[in-house]
Amino acid sequence: MTIPPRVAAFREAYRADHIHSWYSGARHLAIPLAICLTTMSIGLWRIHEPVFLELLTVPITFLIANMVEYWVHRHPMHRPMGPVAELYRRHTRQHHFFYTHEAMEAESRRDFHMVLFPGVTAAFFIVFFVAPIGAAFFLLLTPNVGWLYIITVMAYFLTYELLHLAYHLPPQTAVGRLPGMASLRRHHTAHHDQRLMSSHNFNITFPIGDLVFGTIHVEHEAATEPVQVAG
Ligand SMILES: [Zn+2]
Ligand SMILES: [Zn+2]
Repeated sequence: MTIPPRVAAFREAYRADHIHSWYSGARHLAIPLAICLTTMSIGLWRIHEPVFLELLTVPITFLIANMVEYWVHRHPMHRPMGPVAELYRRHTRQHHFFYTHEAMEAESRRDFHMVLFPGVTAAFFIVFFVAPIGAAFFLLLTPNVGWLYIITVMAYFLTYELLHLAYHLPPQTAVGRLPGMASLRRHHTAHHDQRLMSSHNFNITFPIGDLVFGTIHVEHEAATEPVQVAG
């Protein structure tokens, strides 16, 4: 991988300003992995003889999560929006300048800092979106629905983190050679072209939202628009 000089300079400055000496990429990955797998295991243990209607929680939650992923990435992560402008700053102004379509790969595990969600964002997501909605389903519908929702949403979050990390690792690793990974990686690599990032390929996991809303980038389309970064 040849890193363009402007990307190399951005990476150097980001590492110096934001990645502390005590940071560990392995730990940053291990903590959400442990939290998600533990919660999913507890959920699986607590589910008892779910009926068909309860099991529908899984595909419905999956599709809604895919649309939320699409919408959050397309809007607050790519446009500064009031109280959540930090999402824009970290994603468009940092992630998209640290990794471009010409330089997608992390150079060491310390560069996971610019891929994985910060711990505080993950905690906010669990406290305000996973736990209360799961508890409401548990109380208002059935306990099985509550747990199936929590398991699906945690599995989705973990899939997002692991796939996104895989796109930013060398393609020849064991993870990079998994079935389907090459096309998912191409999808995200096209999004990292700064001429396309505000208009195409907003799904990080499976491009269902991009198909529904017509924002899939077709390879032969020439990207001719100049880079537009607000803020
Ligand atoms: Zn990325
Ligand atoms: Zn983006």
